[in-house]
Amino acid sequence: MAAAVGCGASAPWASYAVGGWGDFLSSAGEPAAEWGYQGEKGPAHWGELNAAFRQCSRGKAQSPVDIRNPLPVRMPPLSFHYRANRVSMVNTGNTVEVDYEPGSYILFGSHRYDLKQFHFHTPSEHTLYGERQDMEIHLVHEDRAGNVAIVAVFVRGGRRNNNVLFRLLERLPSGQGEHYYNREMGINATFLLPLRRDYLSYEGSLPIPPCSEGVRWLVLMNPVDVPRVYIQELHALMGNNSRPLQALNNRVLLLER
Ligand SMILES: [Zn+2]
Repeated sequence: MAAAVGCGASAPWASYAVGGWGDFLSSAGEPAAEWGYQGEKGPAHWGELNAAFRQCSRGKAQSPVDIRNPLPVRMPPLSFHYRANRVSMVNTGNTVEVDYEPGSYILFGSHRYDLKQFHFHTPSEHTLYGERQDMEIHLVHEDRAGNVAIVAVFVRGGRRNNNVLFRLLERLPSGQGEHYYNREMGINATFLLPLRRDYLSYEGSLPIPPCSEGVRWLVLMNPVDVPRVYIQELHALMGNNSRPLQALNNRVLLLER
């Protein structure tokens, strides 16, 4: 699966898109605890943990950010072309990541980005006017040149059931490094998206080490509702895995008008 995503050296975030955390884990059973969200390996220290992580402390266009007063402009249409996919997931120790086979993509204008994986953060990483939401899903995409686009979906505890999460939660890999694969069971990430897909866009970074910049963020403004207990189950497994807010500096948040 790592194939086509190459351009490795020129795109330091490429390994993230292919399941960077997964790569840590598959390397001879090494623990994935190079970084985390608490204490000495937490976000305040990421930049010092590894020379390759320097952007985490020095970058000027980092993610996540607080979303407020976006600028309404005409934006390219954003469309989703996700197919059903066999369930393949891994507990990385920092999140639960669900890998996607080739063939699912978004079009941002006419630019195609292929879906590689999605994963979860509790609570949300981006905030809306200073408020964290219950959960945030990141759908990580990459184009043929190795440029990354991440679609962020806010999730709220509510009543509406969600069949994708239901299927995943039944089988969550509970231990760090544990995988789950089922060729008989399909999920379609389309059903993790809100029906209304107004979006906001800005230039940011991976919100995890190595914090590489040049990431196109597409934040869907309408949340999806899922049963609160689903969010609690994921949180019980992952703990708090949200990076603190980063300075916007001179970036502009563009809202689809
Ligand atoms: Zn993420």
